[in-house]
This record gives sequence, structure tokens and C-alpha cells, in this order.
Amino acid sequence: MNNKLYGNLIFELSRAGHRGYSLPTNSFEGHTTKELPATLRRAEDAALPECDEMTVVRHYTNHSANNFGVNNGFYPLGSCTMKYNPVINEEIAAMKEFTSLHPLQPAETCQGALEVYYGLQQSLAALTGLSEFTLNPCAGAHGELTGLMVIRAYHMSRNDNKRTKVIIPDSAHGTNPASAAVCGLDVIEVKSRENGLVDVEDLKQLVANQGEEVAAMMMTNPNTLGLFEQDIPEIQRIIHECGGLMYYDGANLNPMLGVCRPGDMGFDVMHINLHKTFSTPHGGGGPGSGPIGVRSGLEEFLPTPRVILSDDDTTLRVETGDYEKSLGSIGSFFGNFGVVLRAYTYILSLGNENIKMVGPLATLNANYIKDSLKDVYELPIDGLCKHEFVFDGLKDKSTGVTTMDVAKRLLDYGYHAPTIYFPLLFHESLMVEPTENESKETIDGFICVMRKIAEEASTIPDEVKSAPHNTPIGRVDDVLAAKHPIVTYKQMINDKN
Ligand SMILES: *Cc1c(COP(=O)(O)O)cnc(C)c1O
Repeated sequence: MNNKLYGNLIFELSRAGHRGYSLPTNSFEGHTTKELPATLRRAEDAALPECDEMTVVRHYTNHSANNFGVNNGFYPLGSCTMKYNPVINEEIAAMKEFTSLHPLQPAETCQGALEVYYGLQQSLAALTGLSEFTLNPCAGAHGELTGLMVIRAYHMSRNDNKRTKVIIPDSAHGTNPASAAVCGLDVIEVKSRENGLVDVEDLKQLVANQGEEVAAMMMTNPNTLGLFEQDIPEIQRIIHECGGLMYYDGANLNPMLGVCRPGDMGFDVMHINLHKTFSTPHGGGGPGSGPIGVRSGLEEFLPTPRVILSDDDTTLRVETGDYEKSLGSIGSFFGNFGVVLRAYTYILSLGNENIKMVGPLATLNANYIKDSLKDVYELPIDGLCKHEFVFDGLKDKSTGVTTMDVAKRLLDYGYHAPTIYFPLLFHESLMVEPTENESKETIDGFICVMRKIAEEASTIPDEVKSAPHNTPIGRVDDVLAAKHPIVTYKQMINDKN
């Protein structure tokens, strides 16, 4: 693709007098041309680009083709990954019967949509072993905040007002401590052991000193290293004994689906990222949905509105009323209904049996890649992983080729880079997550390219360190971009002069 042919900005393609439309000047009999009154017209023309139709269409089409997404190639981004997004979900979500609904229309006129909503609430409860779900939060972090607010409301309802601290492992996703802070709670960090799992001895120490102030412990499982936290039975006992509640970060629940349930492990509150685990493309910051579920006894704190089955057992209604202990509204209307639709389609189209295959297949794919590459990439924590794993850069550190270089070189070969420099536990983190829907051929292709890059690191290191070479834009200075972002066209012209 030649960018220069089409210009980087539509303004650069502008030629005075070029038009993308033509309107007739003649007026047919009986019709007279009406001019807008002068008071409504601009004194000067707006500074808009002037282009013919094909130039505009090609400009935007070619720009869109410069993007890389799951539909272009393998996308092994760990943790926050875009997982499987079946095409049928998009078809259902685009149905006029759903898109033309208004959130304020009477419940009796949108029973179908409410059924989707109710059905998803029930399915999530069944999949996680919790009592009740709300689909209102609009992101994972929003779910975390809502869940922590439920926990705080629970402690307050018992006049247990000292509980202002949340225990969070050092491997946690950054949103965990951030949500705790937004909720007005203090964070206590619990260490990980050499094997990447929560250090139970450190936890015991923390609880011995500050147990009466602990509101909750937040855990991600499998954790951010893709490891199953094997000590959960003991951890939940320690936390419950000191009076705290257990919070499960289920943003990436795919490896657990139908295999084991947070509710059975002793968790009290959790969130799920529908836009990760249950499909929905979510680039560029949205749209998302972060439903939270609670164990029985905590339902009364959940936010409103809620979709509830009427006593007649056949109609659904929307409860917005003042529950005495409910958090009330935490967002607009019902949250992101389009994401809810995709998630429910995903669950129904897999069914009870196939949903159990999601985790094992994702786990198989991750372990296959890990074991096929661990002789050339540094694997700090060996052993079985779940849906993702972390390398600490190339094994041969003498070449000077970093994780950043490997990530950039992958782009040359048509692969999206894995997550890099996260988690912060290692200097050269490279976190790979292949989802369950990838074929063996695709995965073998990725392994082959990763091995090739490892070889290039010793034979042609400069080629790797200056990658990418085949992409529309080469290596960018991301520090400069962050420190001195140029976000306006005018600015660019000024800089050129
Ligand atoms: C993505 C993610 C979150 C946050 O979800 P957002 O929708 O981005 O707010 C929280 N925890 C983990 C483990 C995640 O991967």
C-alpha cells in the first residue's frame, strides 16, 4: 500500500473547486429554488477539504486497510486480549429489532430484549456459581468499582466501618488498585512467590497485623501469569476468618468456563469482561461491559435497574425502585446492550457442552506454544499454564535484541505483537495468549516465525532492532509521541514551517 499516493490527511488532497457531489441548477416547472436567508449563512466558506468522491472513498478505505485486527491475522495479545468474536454475534447485534429499541420504552413492548438481558443474568450466575448478576457496569474496571462498592455497602450495613483496606497481589492488573482507590479504599500489596502464585505466608502476616481493617481481597485466577492460584481454598479461609470478602477478577474467565466456578471456590463478588471472555470487538477503548455477580446474601446491594421475572412467571419487568440498600444507578439505563446481545448469542451458540471446550482448547494452545519456544525464549516460570503465559525475552541476552524488537519484528511477518512489558514482574515480559479458535496451522506459523526471529537476533540483529520494515509506518519513537503528542493538523503545518 502506498500511502503517499493517497495522502496522509484528507486536507493534503484538497484541490480548490473539487467537489464530491453535483446538484442540478435547473428548477423544474412549479419548483423554485429557495436560498437560505443571509442571516443563516456563513460569511466565509468553512475550511473543509475539497475533493472528488473517489479520492475521499479511496483515502479512507486505504487508511482502514492500514489497520491490523483479528480479521487480518493472528493476534496473540495476552491478558486484555480480543478473544473469539464469531460473525453470527455481529449479525444478531445489528438486527433492527434490537437496534431500534429505546431504553425508556415500556417493558411490555420489549419483552424480547428483556428476555436476552434476563437470560444472560441467569447464564452468568449458572456459569460462575453465584446468586445474582447485574449487567449495568460498562467495563471491567467499572465492574470492579461496583463490586467494591457492594462490599463496602455490606460492611457498612453491619456497622463494620473500619474495613477500608483491600489486599491485592503484586501481579494484579493495574485496574485493581485503581478501582480500590476510586472507591476510597487503601491498597495493601501481597507478594508473589518464586512460582508466581500468591505468597500465603506473606498474606497471613498482613492479616495478622491488619485483619480487622480488611474489606476484601481481590484475586485474578488464572492470575496475570496465566497460572492457576492453587491456594485459593486456604486464602479464602484466611480472608473470611478475618471478616473480609473475596473478590474475583474474572475479566479473562475463558479458561475456567464450565470447568470450575468462582462461587464454588469461596468468592463472594466478581466481575466478568463480556468484551473479552464473551466476544465483542473492543478496540480503542470501547464498547465494553463488566457485569458483576454476588453470592447469596449480597443481592440487595446490587445496583438498579434490574430485570426481574414477574410473579406470573411469564413476563419480565424492570425494577428501578428505591431498594433500601441498593447502590442505585451506576450508569445510564441498562449498560451496553449491544455487548450483552453478543455475549448471550455466544453462550447460546456454544451451548452447555461446547462452552466447556473453550478453556481446555485455549489451555492446550498456550502450552503448545510455550513448550515449542521455551528453548529459545526465556521461560521464568515453567510448568503447566492456563490460557496464557509469559516469557522474559529471548533466552540469549547477548544479542541485545529486546522484547520490543521481537514485537516489532513480528509485525513484518504479519502477526500482531503479544502483550509486552506486562506484567511488571519481569524486565522483558512478553505475554502470549492464543485463543481456542485458532487452528494448529495458524499456531504453527506463529511458532515458526518466533523461532525465525530468535535466529535473526543472532544473525542479523540490526534488522530486528530496526523493525518493522514492511508496515505502513516504521518504528515510532513512542516516548516522543507520549511526551510531545501532535494532535492537531494546524500544529503539524506549524512544525513543518
Ligand atoms: C482487561 C482487564 C481488566 C479491566 O477491564 P476494562 O474493561 O479494560 O476496564 C481488569 N482485570 C483484568 C485481569 C483484565 O485483563
